[in-house]
Amino acid sequence: MTMITKESLPQAVEKALAAAPVTDLHTHIFAAGFGDLLLWGVDELVTYHYLIAENFRYTGMPYEQYFTLGKKEQADLIWRNLFIEHSPVSEAQRGVLTALAKLGLDVGSRNLASFREFCSSFTPGEYIDKVFATSGVSTVVMTNDPFNAKERAVWLGGGCDDRRFQAALRLDPLLNAYDQTYLSLREWGYPVDKRLDRTSVEEIKRFLREWAQRMKALYMAVSLPPTFAVPEDSLRSRLIEECVLPVARELDIPFAMMIGVNKLVNHKLGDAGDSVGKSSVRPLEYLCEKYPDNKFLVTMLARENQHELAVTARKFRNLLVFGCWWFLNNPSLVEEMTRMRMELLGLSFVPQHSDARILDQLIYKWDHSRKIIGKVLVDKYGDLLATGWRLDEAELKRDAEGLLGGNFWQFIGKEPMM
Ligand SMILES: [Zn+2]
Repeated sequence: MTMITKESLPQAVEKALAAAPVTDLHTHIFAAGFGDLLLWGVDELVTYHYLIAENFRYTGMPYEQYFTLGKKEQADLIWRNLFIEHSPVSEAQRGVLTALAKLGLDVGSRNLASFREFCSSFTPGEYIDKVFATSGVSTVVMTNDPFNAKERAVWLGGGCDDRRFQAALRLDPLLNAYDQTYLSLREWGYPVDKRLDRTSVEEIKRFLREWAQRMKALYMAVSLPPTFAVPEDSLRSRLIEECVLPVARELDIPFAMMIGVNKLVNHKLGDAGDSVGKSSVRPLEYLCEKYPDNKFLVTMLARENQHELAVTARKFRNLLVFGCWWFLNNPSLVEEMTRMRMELLGLSFVPQHSDARILDQLIYKWDHSRKIIGKVLVDKYGDLLATGWRLDEAELKRDAEGLLGGNFWQFIGKEPMM
Protein backbone atom coordinates (compact mmCIF):
# COMPACT_ATOMS: atom_id res chain seq x y z
CA MET A 1 0.00 0.00 0.00
CA THR A 2 1.63 3.24 -1.18
CA MET A 3 0.62 6.18 1.00
CA ILE A 4 0.22 9.56 -0.65
CA THR A 5 2.11 12.59 0.62
CA LYS A 6 1.60 16.24 -0.21
CA GLU A 7 4.68 16.00 -2.42
CA SER A 8 3.68 12.84 -4.29
CA LEU A 9 0.02 13.86 -4.69
CA PRO A 10 0.06 15.69 -8.08
CA GLN A 11 1.91 12.87 -9.81
CA ALA A 12 -0.17 10.17 -8.15
CA VAL A 13 -3.41 11.83 -9.28
CA GLU A 14 -2.12 12.21 -12.81
CA LYS A 15 -1.10 8.57 -12.88
CA ALA A 16 -4.46 7.36 -11.54
CA LEU A 17 -6.41 9.39 -14.10
CA ALA A 18 -4.16 8.34 -16.97
CA ALA A 19 -4.65 4.67 -16.11
CA ALA A 20 -8.43 4.80 -15.60
CA PRO A 21 -10.33 3.56 -18.67
CA VAL A 22 -12.79 6.17 -19.94
CA THR A 23 -16.43 5.44 -20.67
CA ASP A 24 -17.63 8.40 -22.72
CA LEU A 25 -21.34 8.39 -22.04
CA HIS A 26 -22.47 10.79 -24.76
CA THR A 27 -20.91 11.13 -28.22
CA HIS A 28 -22.01 11.42 -31.83
CA ILE A 29 -19.41 9.08 -33.26
CA PHE A 30 -20.13 5.70 -34.79
CA ALA A 31 -18.55 2.29 -35.21
CA ALA A 32 -16.98 1.53 -38.60
CA GLY A 33 -20.00 -0.60 -39.54
CA PHE A 34 -22.09 2.58 -39.84
CA GLY A 35 -20.13 3.62 -42.95
CA ASP A 36 -20.01 7.35 -43.67
CA LEU A 37 -21.96 8.21 -40.52
CA LEU A 38 -18.55 7.93 -38.85
CA LEU A 39 -16.67 11.22 -39.30
CA TRP A 40 -12.90 11.18 -38.84
CA GLY A 41 -9.67 12.78 -40.04
CA VAL A 42 -8.30 16.29 -40.27
CA ASP A 43 -10.78 17.78 -42.77
CA GLU A 44 -13.71 16.77 -40.55
CA LEU A 45 -11.83 17.96 -37.48
CA VAL A 46 -11.22 21.43 -38.94
CA THR A 47 -14.81 21.79 -40.24
CA TYR A 48 -16.44 20.82 -36.90
CA HIS A 49 -19.53 22.99 -36.41
CA TYR A 50 -17.97 24.81 -33.44
CA LEU A 51 -15.24 25.96 -35.86
CA ILE A 52 -17.73 26.85 -38.61
CA ALA A 53 -19.36 29.29 -36.17
CA GLU A 54 -15.97 30.67 -35.12
CA ASN A 55 -14.87 31.05 -38.75
CA PHE A 56 -17.73 33.49 -39.41
CA ARG A 57 -16.43 35.74 -36.62
CA TYR A 58 -13.52 36.54 -38.94
CA THR A 59 -15.09 36.65 -42.41
CA GLY A 60 -17.82 38.49 -44.26
CA MET A 61 -18.38 35.57 -46.64
CA PRO A 62 -22.10 34.86 -47.12
CA TYR A 63 -23.16 31.79 -45.10
CA GLU A 64 -24.67 30.18 -48.19
CA GLN A 65 -21.40 30.45 -50.06
CA TYR A 66 -19.50 28.52 -47.38
CA PHE A 67 -21.97 25.66 -47.53
CA THR A 68 -21.64 25.31 -51.32
CA LEU A 69 -17.91 24.53 -50.95
CA GLY A 70 -16.57 20.99 -50.87
CA LYS A 71 -15.25 19.57 -47.57
CA LYS A 72 -11.59 20.11 -48.51
CA GLU A 73 -12.18 23.72 -49.59
CA GLN A 74 -14.11 24.39 -46.38
CA ALA A 75 -11.21 23.00 -44.37
CA ASP A 76 -8.68 25.11 -46.32
CA LEU A 77 -10.73 28.23 -45.68
CA ILE A 78 -11.17 27.59 -41.94
CA TRP A 79 -7.51 26.64 -41.58
CA ARG A 80 -6.51 29.95 -43.14
CA ASN A 81 -8.96 32.09 -41.15
CA LEU A 82 -8.69 30.45 -37.74
CA PHE A 83 -5.17 29.04 -37.68
CA ILE A 84 -2.98 31.11 -40.00
CA GLU A 85 -4.46 34.61 -39.99
CA HIS A 86 -5.27 34.51 -36.26
CA SER A 87 -3.79 32.52 -33.40
CA PRO A 88 -6.00 29.51 -32.62
CA VAL A 89 -6.61 30.18 -28.93
CA SER A 90 -10.29 29.21 -28.58
CA GLU A 91 -10.93 25.83 -26.96
CA ALA A 92 -12.22 24.25 -30.18
CA GLN A 93 -9.28 25.63 -32.15
CA ARG A 94 -6.72 24.53 -29.59
CA GLY A 95 -8.41 21.13 -29.57
CA VAL A 96 -7.50 20.53 -33.21
CA LEU A 97 -3.84 21.10 -32.40
CA THR A 98 -3.92 18.83 -29.34
CA ALA A 99 -5.53 16.03 -31.37
CA LEU A 100 -3.02 16.31 -34.22
CA ALA A 101 -0.04 16.59 -31.87
CA LYS A 102 -1.10 13.52 -29.86
CA LEU A 103 -1.46 11.62 -33.13
CA GLY A 104 2.25 12.30 -33.57
CA LEU A 105 2.08 15.14 -36.09
CA ASP A 106 4.25 18.25 -36.05
CA VAL A 107 1.62 21.00 -35.73
CA GLY A 108 4.42 23.58 -35.89
CA SER A 109 4.76 22.77 -39.59
CA ARG A 110 1.23 24.20 -40.14
CA ASN A 111 1.11 21.87 -43.10
CA LEU A 112 -2.51 20.84 -43.58
CA ALA A 113 -1.64 18.78 -46.66
CA SER A 114 0.74 16.60 -44.67
CA PHE A 115 -1.90 16.08 -41.96
CA ARG A 116 -4.32 14.94 -44.68
CA GLU A 117 -1.76 12.56 -46.05
CA PHE A 118 -1.25 11.05 -42.61
CA CYS A 119 -4.99 10.49 -42.09
CA SER A 120 -5.52 8.98 -45.51
CA SER A 121 -2.94 6.27 -44.76
CA PHE A 122 -5.43 4.63 -42.35
CA THR A 123 -8.60 2.60 -42.88
CA PRO A 124 -11.51 3.72 -40.66
CA GLY A 125 -11.02 0.62 -38.49
CA GLU A 126 -7.30 1.31 -38.01
CA TYR A 127 -8.03 4.95 -37.20
CA ILE A 128 -10.56 3.95 -34.55
CA ASP A 129 -7.94 1.72 -32.90
CA LYS A 130 -5.38 4.52 -33.03
CA VAL A 131 -7.72 7.15 -31.56
CA PHE A 132 -9.01 4.90 -28.79
CA ALA A 133 -5.45 3.96 -27.81
CA THR A 134 -4.24 7.58 -27.93
CA SER A 135 -7.19 9.00 -25.96
CA GLY A 136 -7.43 6.28 -23.29
CA VAL A 137 -11.12 5.83 -24.10
CA SER A 138 -12.34 2.25 -23.83
CA THR A 139 -16.08 2.64 -24.47
CA VAL A 140 -18.22 5.31 -26.10
CA VAL A 141 -21.97 5.65 -26.15
CA MET A 142 -23.27 6.71 -29.56
CA THR A 143 -26.37 8.80 -30.28
CA ASN A 144 -28.68 6.55 -32.27
CA ASP A 145 -31.63 7.98 -34.12
CA PRO A 146 -34.15 5.49 -35.53
CA PHE A 147 -35.67 8.34 -37.58
CA ASN A 148 -32.43 8.77 -39.54
CA ALA A 149 -32.85 6.70 -42.73
CA LYS A 150 -29.17 5.78 -43.09
CA GLU A 151 -28.82 4.74 -39.52
CA ARG A 152 -32.12 2.93 -39.47
CA ALA A 153 -30.95 0.77 -42.36
CA VAL A 154 -27.81 -0.27 -40.44
CA TRP A 155 -29.84 -1.35 -37.40
CA LEU A 156 -32.42 -3.19 -39.49
CA GLY A 157 -29.50 -4.97 -41.18
CA GLY A 158 -28.19 -6.32 -37.86
CA GLY A 159 -26.56 -3.27 -36.25
CA CYS A 160 -23.25 -2.97 -34.52
CA ASP A 161 -21.06 -5.72 -33.13
CA ASP A 162 -18.11 -3.57 -31.98
CA ARG A 163 -18.54 -3.59 -28.21
CA ARG A 164 -16.50 -0.41 -27.79
CA PHE A 165 -19.51 1.38 -29.28
CA GLN A 166 -22.65 1.18 -27.17
CA ALA A 167 -26.01 2.61 -28.16
CA ALA A 168 -28.38 5.26 -26.82
CA LEU A 169 -31.86 5.54 -28.31
CA ARG A 170 -32.28 9.20 -29.25
CA LEU A 171 -35.82 10.49 -29.12
CA ASP A 172 -35.63 14.10 -30.33
CA PRO A 173 -37.75 13.55 -33.46
CA LEU A 174 -40.38 11.64 -31.49
CA LEU A 175 -40.62 14.02 -28.53
CA ASN A 176 -39.91 17.39 -30.14
CA ALA A 177 -41.63 16.92 -33.52
CA TYR A 178 -44.36 14.35 -32.98
CA ASP A 179 -46.74 16.26 -35.27
CA GLN A 180 -44.46 15.21 -38.14
CA THR A 181 -42.91 11.95 -36.95
CA TYR A 182 -46.24 10.23 -36.24
CA LEU A 183 -46.51 9.86 -40.02
CA SER A 184 -43.24 7.88 -40.12
CA LEU A 185 -44.44 5.67 -37.28
CA ARG A 186 -47.60 4.90 -39.26
CA GLU A 187 -45.56 4.07 -42.32
CA TRP A 188 -43.48 1.63 -40.24
CA GLY A 189 -46.53 -0.27 -39.00
CA TYR A 190 -47.43 1.51 -35.76
CA PRO A 191 -51.05 2.73 -36.11
CA VAL A 192 -50.77 6.03 -34.20
CA ASP A 193 -52.78 9.22 -34.50
CA LYS A 194 -51.84 12.86 -34.19
CA ARG A 195 -53.71 13.42 -30.90
CA LEU A 196 -52.10 10.54 -29.04
CA ASP A 197 -55.12 8.38 -28.21
CA ARG A 198 -54.91 5.18 -26.12
CA THR A 199 -53.90 2.99 -29.05
CA SER A 200 -51.16 5.46 -30.00
CA VAL A 201 -49.71 5.37 -26.49
CA GLU A 202 -49.48 1.58 -26.62
CA GLU A 203 -48.04 1.63 -30.14
CA ILE A 204 -45.37 4.19 -29.24
CA LYS A 205 -44.41 2.08 -26.24
CA ARG A 206 -44.09 -0.88 -28.60
CA PHE A 207 -41.90 1.24 -30.91
CA LEU A 208 -39.64 2.30 -28.01
CA ARG A 209 -39.38 -1.22 -26.63
CA GLU A 210 -38.54 -2.73 -30.02
CA TRP A 211 -35.90 -0.12 -30.85
CA ALA A 212 -34.28 -0.04 -27.41
CA GLN A 213 -33.95 -3.82 -27.59
CA ARG A 214 -32.77 -3.85 -31.19
CA MET A 215 -29.98 -1.39 -30.30
CA LYS A 216 -29.38 -2.84 -26.82
CA ALA A 217 -29.61 0.81 -25.81
CA LEU A 218 -28.00 1.70 -22.49
CA TYR A 219 -30.46 4.57 -22.12
CA MET A 220 -33.02 6.68 -24.00
CA ALA A 221 -32.18 10.34 -24.57
CA VAL A 222 -33.51 13.69 -25.71
CA SER A 223 -32.25 17.26 -25.98
CA LEU A 224 -34.70 19.88 -24.79
CA PRO A 225 -35.26 23.63 -25.08
CA PRO A 226 -35.06 26.07 -22.15
CA THR A 227 -38.88 26.20 -22.18
CA PHE A 228 -39.10 22.47 -21.38
CA ALA A 229 -41.90 21.78 -18.90
CA VAL A 230 -43.45 18.67 -17.35
CA PRO A 231 -46.25 18.29 -16.51
CA GLU A 232 -47.92 20.47 -19.08
CA ASP A 233 -50.65 20.09 -21.66
CA SER A 234 -48.36 19.21 -24.55
CA LEU A 235 -47.69 16.14 -26.62
CA ARG A 236 -44.08 16.08 -25.42
CA SER A 237 -45.04 16.08 -21.78
CA ARG A 238 -47.59 13.30 -22.36
CA LEU A 239 -45.15 11.26 -24.47
CA ILE A 240 -42.58 11.40 -21.66
CA GLU A 241 -44.95 10.47 -18.85
CA GLU A 242 -47.16 8.00 -20.70
CA CYS A 243 -44.69 6.32 -23.08
CA VAL A 244 -41.00 6.93 -22.35
CA LEU A 245 -40.94 6.56 -18.57
CA PRO A 246 -43.05 3.37 -18.42
CA VAL A 247 -40.83 1.70 -21.05
CA ALA A 248 -37.66 2.93 -19.30
CA ARG A 249 -38.91 1.33 -16.07
CA GLU A 250 -39.87 -1.86 -17.82
CA LEU A 251 -36.43 -2.19 -19.47
CA ASP A 252 -34.63 -0.75 -16.44
CA ILE A 253 -32.73 1.88 -18.42
CA PRO A 254 -32.32 5.60 -17.62
CA PHE A 255 -33.91 8.47 -19.49
CA ALA A 256 -31.30 11.11 -20.34
CA MET A 257 -32.31 14.74 -20.66
CA MET A 258 -30.01 17.39 -22.09
CA ILE A 259 -31.74 20.63 -21.27
CA GLY A 260 -31.19 24.19 -22.45
CA VAL A 261 -30.57 24.22 -26.19
CA ASN A 262 -32.22 26.92 -28.27
CA LYS A 263 -32.29 25.39 -31.73
CA LEU A 264 -31.30 27.39 -34.79
CA VAL A 265 -31.27 30.93 -33.45
CA ASN A 266 -29.35 31.53 -36.68
CA HIS A 267 -30.81 29.04 -39.13
CA LYS A 268 -28.32 29.99 -41.84
CA LEU A 269 -25.55 28.41 -39.77
CA GLY A 270 -27.19 24.96 -39.72
CA ASP A 271 -25.71 22.73 -36.99
CA ALA A 272 -23.57 25.67 -35.88
CA GLY A 273 -26.65 27.88 -35.38
CA ASP A 274 -27.93 26.51 -32.04
CA SER A 275 -27.64 28.55 -28.86
CA VAL A 276 -28.25 28.39 -25.13
CA GLY A 277 -30.95 29.53 -22.71
CA LYS A 278 -31.60 29.27 -18.98
CA SER A 279 -34.07 26.58 -17.97
CA SER A 280 -36.09 25.67 -14.92
CA VAL A 281 -35.06 22.69 -12.80
CA ARG A 282 -38.64 22.38 -11.56
CA PRO A 283 -39.60 19.80 -14.24
CA LEU A 284 -36.64 17.73 -13.11
CA GLU A 285 -37.67 17.86 -9.46
CA TYR A 286 -41.17 16.83 -10.48
CA LEU A 287 -39.95 13.86 -12.54
CA CYS A 288 -37.41 12.64 -9.96
CA GLU A 289 -39.95 12.80 -7.17
CA LYS A 290 -42.97 11.42 -8.99
CA TYR A 291 -41.04 8.58 -10.62
CA PRO A 292 -38.59 7.24 -8.02
CA ASP A 293 -38.30 3.98 -9.97
CA ASN A 294 -37.03 5.80 -13.05
CA LYS A 295 -33.40 6.85 -13.41
CA PHE A 296 -32.51 10.21 -14.94
CA LEU A 297 -29.20 11.17 -16.51
CA VAL A 298 -29.10 14.94 -16.83
CA THR A 299 -26.87 17.67 -18.14
CA MET A 300 -27.84 21.31 -18.61
CA LEU A 301 -26.40 23.78 -21.08
CA ALA A 302 -26.61 27.09 -19.23
CA ARG A 303 -23.88 27.97 -16.76
CA GLU A 304 -26.60 29.62 -14.66
CA ASN A 305 -28.32 26.26 -14.14
CA GLN A 306 -25.31 24.35 -12.81
CA HIS A 307 -25.63 25.12 -9.11
CA GLU A 308 -29.32 24.26 -8.86
CA LEU A 309 -28.78 21.12 -10.92
CA ALA A 310 -26.11 19.91 -8.49
CA VAL A 311 -28.39 20.74 -5.56
CA THR A 312 -31.23 18.78 -7.20
CA ALA A 313 -28.93 15.75 -7.42
CA ARG A 314 -28.40 15.98 -3.64
CA LYS A 315 -32.16 15.57 -3.23
CA PHE A 316 -32.69 12.68 -5.62
CA ARG A 317 -30.49 9.61 -5.88
CA ASN A 318 -32.28 8.62 -9.11
CA LEU A 319 -30.57 11.61 -10.78
CA LEU A 320 -27.03 11.39 -12.12
CA VAL A 321 -25.54 14.69 -13.28
CA PHE A 322 -23.10 14.37 -16.15
CA GLY A 323 -20.66 16.34 -18.26
CA CYS A 324 -19.91 19.92 -19.23
CA TRP A 325 -21.98 20.21 -22.33
CA TRP A 326 -21.07 22.08 -25.55
CA PHE A 327 -20.57 25.78 -24.70
CA LEU A 328 -19.59 24.71 -21.18
CA ASN A 329 -16.80 22.47 -22.42
CA ASN A 330 -14.21 25.20 -21.92
CA PRO A 331 -11.39 24.90 -19.38
CA SER A 332 -12.50 27.79 -17.14
CA LEU A 333 -16.07 26.48 -16.93
CA VAL A 334 -15.15 22.80 -16.66
CA GLU A 335 -12.97 23.67 -13.67
CA GLU A 336 -15.62 25.81 -12.00
CA MET A 337 -18.32 23.18 -12.50
CA THR A 338 -16.18 20.19 -11.49
CA ARG A 339 -15.08 21.96 -8.31
CA MET A 340 -18.64 22.91 -7.38
CA ARG A 341 -20.04 19.48 -8.14
CA MET A 342 -17.36 17.78 -6.06
CA GLU A 343 -18.05 20.13 -3.17
CA LEU A 344 -21.79 19.39 -3.32
CA LEU A 345 -21.84 15.77 -4.46
CA GLY A 346 -18.52 14.25 -3.44
CA LEU A 347 -17.55 11.81 -6.17
CA SER A 348 -21.13 10.85 -7.11
CA PHE A 349 -21.33 12.47 -10.53
CA VAL A 350 -19.86 12.07 -14.00
CA PRO A 351 -17.56 15.05 -14.58
CA GLN A 352 -17.33 14.84 -18.33
CA HIS A 353 -18.53 13.43 -21.62
CA SER A 354 -17.00 14.43 -24.95
CA ASP A 355 -20.00 15.03 -27.23
CA ALA A 356 -17.43 14.22 -29.96
CA ARG A 357 -18.83 14.33 -33.48
CA ILE A 358 -15.49 13.63 -35.08
CA LEU A 359 -13.64 10.53 -33.89
CA ASP A 360 -10.34 12.43 -33.47
CA GLN A 361 -11.96 14.78 -30.93
CA LEU A 362 -11.92 12.03 -28.32
CA ILE A 363 -8.21 12.75 -28.04
CA TYR A 364 -8.36 16.42 -27.16
CA LYS A 365 -11.60 16.44 -25.23
CA TRP A 366 -10.31 13.77 -22.84
CA ASP A 367 -6.78 15.13 -22.66
CA HIS A 368 -7.97 18.60 -21.71
CA SER A 369 -10.66 17.35 -19.29
CA ARG A 370 -8.41 14.85 -17.54
CA LYS A 371 -5.97 17.64 -16.69
CA ILE A 372 -8.69 19.82 -15.17
CA ILE A 373 -10.29 16.97 -13.22
CA GLY A 374 -6.78 16.22 -11.94
CA LYS A 375 -6.23 19.80 -10.85
CA VAL A 376 -9.47 19.80 -8.84
CA LEU A 377 -8.70 16.41 -7.29
CA VAL A 378 -5.23 17.56 -6.22
CA ASP A 379 -6.82 20.50 -4.41
CA LYS A 380 -9.49 18.39 -2.75
CA TYR A 381 -7.16 15.57 -1.70
CA GLY A 382 -4.66 18.20 -0.54
CA ASP A 383 -7.30 19.61 1.81
CA LEU A 384 -7.86 16.11 3.21
CA LEU A 385 -4.14 15.48 3.75
CA ALA A 386 -3.89 18.81 5.58
CA THR A 387 -6.30 17.49 8.25
CA GLY A 388 -4.11 14.46 8.89
CA TRP A 389 -6.30 12.12 6.78
CA ARG A 390 -4.35 9.41 4.99
CA LEU A 391 -4.82 8.36 1.37
CA ASP A 392 -3.28 5.48 -0.51
CA GLU A 393 -2.71 4.86 -4.19
CA ALA A 394 -5.44 2.23 -4.41
CA GLU A 395 -8.00 4.75 -3.19
CA LEU A 396 -6.93 7.26 -5.84
CA LYS A 397 -7.29 4.52 -8.45
CA ARG A 398 -10.79 3.65 -7.20
CA ASP A 399 -11.89 7.30 -7.26
CA ALA A 400 -10.44 7.97 -10.72
CA GLU A 401 -12.09 4.89 -12.18
CA GLY A 402 -15.43 5.94 -10.73
CA LEU A 403 -15.24 9.46 -12.14
CA LEU A 404 -14.11 8.41 -15.63
CA GLY A 405 -16.58 5.57 -16.11
CA GLY A 406 -17.49 3.45 -13.10
CA ASN A 407 -20.09 5.86 -11.73
CA PHE A 408 -22.04 5.64 -14.97
CA TRP A 409 -22.00 1.84 -15.08
CA GLN A 410 -22.98 1.59 -11.44
CA PHE A 411 -25.88 4.01 -11.95
CA ILE A 412 -27.26 2.09 -14.91
CA GLY A 413 -26.72 -1.20 -13.05
CA LYS A 414 -24.59 -2.91 -15.68
CA GLU A 415 -21.11 -4.38 -15.82
CA PRO A 416 -18.62 -2.16 -17.67
CA MET A 417 -18.11 -3.33 -21.26
CA MET A 418 -14.38 -3.14 -21.74
ZN1 LIG B 1 -24.63 15.73 -28.17
